Amino acid sequence: MNAAGPPSRLREISRSRTLSQPMEKAEEEERNLMGGGSPKAETGEEAVVRPRDGSSQESRKSSSSRSSRKSFRLDYRLEEDVTKSKRDKHGRFINPWSTWKFPSYGTLFRFFLLDKDHSQVPSSKEVLDRELPVLEPYFVRNPRQVGQTGSGLRVTWLGHATVLVEMDDLVVLTDPVFSQRASPLQFVGYKRFRDPACAVAQLPRVHAVLISHTHYDHLDVGSVVSLNERFGGELRWFVPLGLLDWMQRCGCENVIELDWWEENCVPGHDEVTFVCTPSQHWCKRTPLDENRALWGSWSVLGPCNRFFFAGDTGYCPVFEEIGKRFGPFDLAAIPIGAYMPRNVMQSQHVDPEEAVRIHIDVQAKQSVAIHWGTFALAHEPYLDPPLRLKEALEKHGLSQDKFFVLNHGESRELNSEVFE
Ligand SMILES: [Zn+2]
Repeated sequence: MNAAGPPSRLREISRSRTLSQPMEKAEEEERNLMGGGSPKAETGEEAVVRPRDGSSQESRKSSSSRSSRKSFRLDYRLEEDVTKSKRDKHGRFINPWSTWKFPSYGTLFRFFLLDKDHSQVPSSKEVLDRELPVLEPYFVRNPRQVGQTGSGLRVTWLGHATVLVEMDDLVVLTDPVFSQRASPLQFVGYKRFRDPACAVAQLPRVHAVLISHTHYDHLDVGSVVSLNERFGGELRWFVPLGLLDWMQRCGCENVIELDWWEENCVPGHDEVTFVCTPSQHWCKRTPLDENRALWGSWSVLGPCNRFFFAGDTGYCPVFEEIGKRFGPFDLAAIPIGAYMPRNVMQSQHVDPEEAVRIHIDVQAKQSVAIHWGTFALAHEPYLDPPLRLKEALEKHGLSQDKFFVLNHGESRELNSEVFE
């Protein structure tokens, strides 16, 4: 990979085949991958927009938007002081920090078969409804309010790492997972213990989706296909390097694939810059595709607001780099759950104390807690993440308002004095 190469170019590819049944097609592709295929790792350093078939309205919009895309003012990767993505000799991406250490097979064996799971998720819906209520998001009843944030920002937590952010005339969705299971199969695997706060059909018009990586609790084929069926080529997907082919097999036509520190925007909204920024994690969906795709966080930089989506990550020095370059952020969405036992989780999932360090490092004015209270992926008691977050904030002399926790479906408005 030529890390110091030219900035991404936008390339238009005519559609090579018709996907008449995208859902079935996507599932078939997933099965093919499970059966031995592997996604094409070397898609080059190009971002691709695929127009819709024929001369539909969407097609015209897609092509006209290409010319309105801003040119790259600066290729950040040319600067020496940022950490670039890295691959091993087999072409698989690796984490470039000494803070990364994947657990040994022995440790993993103990985790899956011997360690005691302390998550204690109650089976009673009544208890769960009391402890972790799922509220109907405001936009289901008041769709007209969507986007009416003036120069402010509104965030709605829809569960796990799925967050809807309205800022600078854009509606942005992160790691959309609306399925019941984070698994290749919907009858086995991690099942959510709290329903998504709404269905894809109830979402407002979404302009952009940010994908952090390929793990099933962040990249869900059913949700991708549903979003694509609803919004088609008008929805822009921002994905890290190596995911373009997969997205296209799901039928998505408006996909921007970026390396760390590369940027792009939503057509017609050139003033808001989307930058793929690093994180410390890994990727795997099938036995053969481990780390064939890159993982990342996202920095969304608008004229009024800056939003940072940490995705899924362990703690590493890169957040200070991101803060120096793009901070301060008005809002950061940072994971606080799935951190026990530490010898298994530390490299890939921050605990609440480390989440607060990320909040400080990226220079977030406020942060919202994500990646907890939805799937029991790890062994900490299911209500512990917000409790430990509270302790960590106290330790750093930060008020709880600085790094807040929302109920499922709940919204918070920031910089709201300027709201209409
Ligand atoms: Zn993950």
